[in-house]
Amino acid sequence: MSTTSQETSPRVALVTGTTSGIGAAVVEEFCRQGHQVLAVDFNADGQAVADAAGAVFFQADLTDGEACRAAVAEALRRFGRLDILVNNAGIQHVSSIEEFPEAKWRQIIDLMLTAPFLLTQAAWPSMREGGWGRIINIASVHAQVASPGKAAYISAKHGMIGLTKTAALEGGSQGITANAICPAYVKTPLVDNQIADQAKLHDMDEQQVIEQIMLKNAAVKRLIEPGEVASLVAYLASDLAGAVTGASWNIDLGWTAQ
Ligand code: NAD
Repeated sequence: MSTTSQETSPRVALVTGTTSGIGAAVVEEFCRQGHQVLAVDFNADGQAVADAAGAVFFQADLTDGEACRAAVAEALRRFGRLDILVNNAGIQHVSSIEEFPEAKWRQIIDLMLTAPFLLTQAAWPSMREGGWGRIINIASVHAQVASPGKAAYISAKHGMIGLTKTAALEGGSQGITANAICPAYVKTPLVDNQIADQAKLHDMDEQQVIEQIMLKNAAVKRLIEPGEVASLVAYLASDLAGAVTGASWNIDLGWTAQ
């Protein structure tokens, strides 16, 4: 997908969760635009994905606070500054509140709410000193509405909107913007993996899960492509988006229009 109208000055970006799906598409798009990119993931397969795009890979389990700080330190060491942070790494676990394992709750909150906070905190001084920063949080339509069976994910994503708004208010006078993107179902391994879980939870077959659960509230009846999300990330990371901050950007097939 071309984003020619969104070209921006070359920047240094740190993107999390880059081995597959949305994060891999963002790394590819940023590299195409000439940015220097540190791609951060706990999965060693991320090395090949980063190499193919022209990014630098850094392996880190972002549920660990020290690893979050080490990732930002690595971007600063390699590139001398950090301009763009994309908090994208995420996982899902589907089960009722009654049966939700505490360890899974903690893992999801650590990865999807605490890590974005710690990465934002660590990246902030470089953005402030440069007088320019872009924080882009990949939230979800589940940051706006709930669905049964996803208590931790939905709580983390709702929290991410609060973090985004606070960062926008604190960053406004320093040239730092913060925005959240809220997609409905995107064609990625995260969605593939949960189709079977949802089928079990709702006693359906997998096609029924896609049609009756994933696309039930969609006006546009299809899954979203990772590149469509990367395209909006590229806009929000560009010079053109300097007046855009504190906002939640839905790419939700019309889900929340009703
Ligand atoms: P994905 O499974 O393709 O990618 C997630 C990435 O996060 C993977 O590369 C994985 O290795 C990495 N990761 C997982 N745990 C990690 C950890 N502890 N430390 C570092 N990296 C870790 O999924 P995706 O669909 O591309 O999801 C990306 C983001 O988009 C997530 O935050 C997800 O919640 C959000 N999102 C996805 C959808 C969707 O339908 N796919 C919809 C809305 C929002």
